[in-house]
Amino acid sequence: NSTKKLAVVTGANRGLGFEASRQLAKNGYHVILTSRDAAKGQNAAQTLQNEGLSITFHPLDVTSDQSCQKLADFIQQEFGKLDVLINNAGISIDAKDEGNSIFDTHIETLKETMETNVYGVFRVTRALIPLMRVQNYGRIVNVSSGMGQLTDMEGGYPGYRLSKTALNALTRILANELQTNNILVNSVCPGWVKTDMGGSAAPRTPEQGVDTIVWLATLANGSPTGSFFRDRQPIAW
Ligand code: NDP
Repeated sequence: NSTKKLAVVTGANRGLGFEASRQLAKNGYHVILTSRDAAKGQNAAQTLQNEGLSITFHPLDVTSDQSCQKLADFIQQEFGKLDVLINNAGISIDAKDEGNSIFDTHIETLKETMETNVYGVFRVTRALIPLMRVQNYGRIVNVSSGMGQLTDMEGGYPGYRLSKTALNALTRILANELQTNNILVNSVCPGWVKTDMGGSAAPRTPEQGVDTIVWLATLANGSPTGSFFRDRQPIAW
């Protein structure tokens, strides 16, 4: 494992995070598959280990500073550096009965969504960034959504939209601060993907959904930073 590049994936016990872990491992990375639920995470890691992939499980709840620090301490001890961070964990909790109007949305819904989808990404990134800075190399992929595009603010899910727009802003701020360290930070929209969140009507498979995530995780030096991509192409904020 020591010669392999090391990747952390958040919210990796199911959905896009699970598939991104699989594809990164298939691309030769050692992957720390993280999950807030230890049993679910261990189970997911076991599934990928059974496929012969190089996977370690570690707990991570992105809403907990302590949990983030424990992960950072573990990586520091075991590996001393980190190459890739996939900020994938996310929630979509705008209740159906809250309607489509932001005025029908409870403030607690907005706060809870921001806590995971935006501050969670910041919390994990802040804890792990010393492990990238130490080697002047890093690739951070923030899994965002077309629903956060400022050009597409209709059609419900106001809390979710707000969080993904803010996540995109965070991508720009992080990219600006980290470019001197050869740490590239980009946002990605995976498209509409068949997962628990995306639902069964979604046209894309998880494997199709993670293509651009893995591509951004493996960018060469000098590649774009602070951009927003879908299908390996830049898209509007
Ligand atoms: P899922 O709901 O299938 O999976 C979400 C994952 O995030 C789960 O593993 C969940 O853990 C985890 N998670 C939630 N909260 C936390 C937390 N506090 N700490 C750690 N992990 C947490 O969603 P998808 O796989 O579809 O979505 C992954 C990402 O892709 C999200 O950011 C989503 O917004 C984005 N996305 C998805 C689209 C789609 O069509 N599916 C479209 C556009 C963007 P647990 O199992 O414990 O709940």
